[in-house]
Amino acid sequence: MSKIIHRSLRGTLPFAVSAQGVYLTDREGKQYIDGSGGAAVSCLGHGHPDVLAAMHAQIDKVAYAHTSFFTTDVAEELADTLIAKAPPGIGHVYFVSGGSEAIEAALKMARQYYVETGEPERSIFIARRQSYHGNTLGALAVGGNEWRRKQFAPILIDVGRVSPCYEYRDRRDGETPEQYSQRLGDELEGEIQRIGPRKIIAFIAEPVVGATLGAVTATPGYFKRVRQICDRYGILFIADEVMCGMGRTGSLHAVDQEGVRPDLMAIAKGLGGGYQPIGAVLASSRIVEAFRKGTGMFQHGHTYIGHATACAAALAVQKVFARDKLIEQVQSLGAYLEKRLHETFINSPYVGDLRGRGLFRGVELVADRATKKPFDPALKLHAKVKSEAMNQGLLCYPMGGTIDGVTGDHVLLAPPFICTEAQIDEIVDKLARAIETGTHALKH
Ligand code: PLP
Repeated sequence: MSKIIHRSLRGTLPFAVSAQGVYLTDREGKQYIDGSGGAAVSCLGHGHPDVLAAMHAQIDKVAYAHTSFFTTDVAEELADTLIAKAPPGIGHVYFVSGGSEAIEAALKMARQYYVETGEPERSIFIARRQSYHGNTLGALAVGGNEWRRKQFAPILIDVGRVSPCYEYRDRRDGETPEQYSQRLGDELEGEIQRIGPRKIIAFIAEPVVGATLGAVTATPGYFKRVRQICDRYGILFIADEVMCGMGRTGSLHAVDQEGVRPDLMAIAKGLGGGYQPIGAVLASSRIVEAFRKGTGMFQHGHTYIGHATACAAALAVQKVFARDKLIEQVQSLGAYLEKRLHETFINSPYVGDLRGRGLFRGVELVADRATKKPFDPALKLHAKVKSEAMNQGLLCYPMGGTIDGVTGDHVLLAPPFICTEAQIDEIVDKLARAIETGTHALKH
């Protein structure tokens, strides 16, 4: 039994001993196809030669140099690359070691911006229910996953809350998508008024909701409305692209498809592709200008910011994206995955919704398709599907039914961008068997 404190103290996990391309192998020699890229991380699969070569070369030169003494060519080139491809207005990058750190840094940048610009009374964030922004205290505070927050609630900052944009469950009968977006915008405005517009720092949201809802895309026009409202009240917009960013939805950033410009963006996961832990905040120039004119610094910092080997890995990931036209490949493979999911689950009595974009897909499981009634959360269907999938040799990312009593169980798929159509077939076929066996087990 492992002495490591894993997420579950009850479970025992197989030991991963090798990984290549879209497959991982455990100590017993069993192969698993990586249908979720871990947690939507491994965008280039495993053992990619370009990334490994870049890391080896960097380690031979300088593995790590603290940013209070040095910068490195890889950190600078990665920053230039990310800024060149970022939405207009983004002019700076702040490197961290992962998604939660990126969110913490973005929250603090937003707060410091208003201190520097003479509005220190702004102290509240607004976020959406059913969101996940990470597990450190600030990220957990803005996260809208009540069961995660519950035992830590007394030590979390107060946050304003609005509904997520979740058409499958929340768009009312007879309501058009435009009316739905309008209603959600009105709700956001109502929350701003309730708190007091001049008290609010920023609105934070995932452009495509990942872990908590399962690849839920926003109604067209929703984020444009959000942006207009933020601008009306001088509130910053923070896009959490930790999971849905870095090409996963078929554009480098998910917001590119929404036609909006965030003030701050958090990215991670696919940035390092799992080869190194790295995240970043992409910041608009006006924020950094305010720091420059004010205290002259961003009052934050971690030991591993701009880690040279991590930057070398992330830079190699970006180069492979460009050379192998992988974001275009996400679009075509994503369309294939969507088609295969529809063909496979069209008649499934337990699949209520298929959604997502690119290679970021969600399958929502329901006890009754007509009423959308979720399975009883106590049945823990998601856990059964996960273990059945592991039995089948499939890694997917099922999440559970108790999420604030709103959504049912769902499975997230986020395969590597380098996979083939045959491998997508394998993922979908194995998922179908896992869902079939998992739901069958509930009935017997
Ligand atoms: N934000 C989103 C949208 C995420 O999905 C995650 C992780 O799943 C995080 C933030 C936190 O990232 P990390 O686990 O790297 O701290």
